[in-house]
Amino acid sequence: MIRTRFAPSPTGFLHIGGARTALFAWAYARHHAGRFILRIEDTDLVRSTPEAVQAILDGMRWLGLTHDEGPFYQTQRMSRYRAVIEEMLLTGSAYPCYMTPAELDRLREEQRAAGLKPRYDGRWRPEPGKTLPTPPVGVQPVIRFRNPTDGVVAWDDIVKGRVEIANDELDDLVIARADGTPTYNFCVVVDDWEMGITHVIRGDDHVNNTPRQINILQALGAQLPRYAHLSMILGDDGQKLSKRHGAVSVMQYDDEGYLPEAVLNYLARLGWSHGDDEIFSMPQFCEWFDLDHITPSAAQFNTEKLNWLNAHYLKRTETARLADLVQSRLQARGVTVAAAPSLAAIIDLYKERAANLNELADLAEVFYIELHPKAELLAKYLTPETLPALADFIDHLPAVAWEAAAISALIKASVARHGLKMPKLAMPLRVLLTGLEQTPSVDAVVALFPREMVLKRLAWPAKT
Ligand code: GLU
Repeated sequence: MIRTRFAPSPTGFLHIGGARTALFAWAYARHHAGRFILRIEDTDLVRSTPEAVQAILDGMRWLGLTHDEGPFYQTQRMSRYRAVIEEMLLTGSAYPCYMTPAELDRLREEQRAAGLKPRYDGRWRPEPGKTLPTPPVGVQPVIRFRNPTDGVVAWDDIVKGRVEIANDELDDLVIARADGTPTYNFCVVVDDWEMGITHVIRGDDHVNNTPRQINILQALGAQLPRYAHLSMILGDDGQKLSKRHGAVSVMQYDDEGYLPEAVLNYLARLGWSHGDDEIFSMPQFCEWFDLDHITPSAAQFNTEKLNWLNAHYLKRTETARLADLVQSRLQARGVTVAAAPSLAAIIDLYKERAANLNELADLAEVFYIELHPKAELLAKYLTPETLPALADFIDHLPAVAWEAAAISALIKASVARHGLKMPKLAMPLRVLLTGLEQTPSVDAVVALFPREMVLKRLAWPAKT
């Protein structure tokens, strides 16, 4: 059974890179009818916050990346890590090291001065025939992993190919601090092992941890997972994606009016491909997704493409759902959505025109607020030439059948009676009813409103 995990450190939002990692790990599990595990790596007590945990859970929920197990919190698993350390001390794969931080600093300085790479020199590492120094009184030791000294540690990374590191490049990693708390790499190893992770899919900023983690896993007699290190995501400008690029938190895309399915579809193509397919649903993605078609080179973010996908999904989303999403946006702006005009009808008519939910909310908002069209637009379209046709239209409104075709016929009749062309009446109607020069077909817009509301909005010229 395939078991994957997403293991964020709760030190900030769920950002785009993290979301892409989560998506790939989730899709791989789904593709193989496996299990997807959520693990919160919160052992860094200084940088981890409950707000960040919540932000990650919110982001995952918004994207619909549901986990099958967890969330597991590393801070709640301390006794497990300690038990494994005890075992390793017993079997000799770990040992106490009494070197003080000051001694370690001195050693590093000496090594640097001698042009050497600073590293722990193994002075407390037990070896056959070696006499260890007497432990100093009052010094709490750290626990170090006994890293193999010869040979190489290697793995076939599913994305990067074969990676090999000589063991003599690695010193003996501290796995527990002097206060007994386990260190980051060690917790990851114990968790991946005990959670039965078969595929570790993560960002390639962790590639340097992998040889150390593999050595510890081997010392524990654990079966090694396969590793897939995803290359980083660059911003539109080709620089490493960072806060400078604006919307780095997934939830900011929600604020900006993107649909989660557009963001997911976009992320799916960020470093993975299936022929030329650009638009696909998540079930389709899960069916197609494999780790073999992940590009090893960095993926570049492209806001234009995300916007294009978002507009595509907006057009295809059922009206009822869009109406709910737009309604909550309008509410947040303090705009009350009345029963008439019907928000669903407005959205049906307008959803082709908006690139995101906020634009759709802008378009819908004018139907519910007290409208004050701009003076310059009124001056431009309500002219001595057009006003008689408008008055004619208003006169005939009370008797017209309330549907777009009849309204359209009335508009045509009113302009014809005054020897004008359609736009001469369509434009004043647009401006008076919506405040905008651009709308869908004007008869359809008129028909959205209740008749009395149209009469009220059109009565505007009479009031001046
Ligand atoms: N907690 C790590 C991070 O948020 C991920 C560790 C892993 O996937 O192994 O970057």
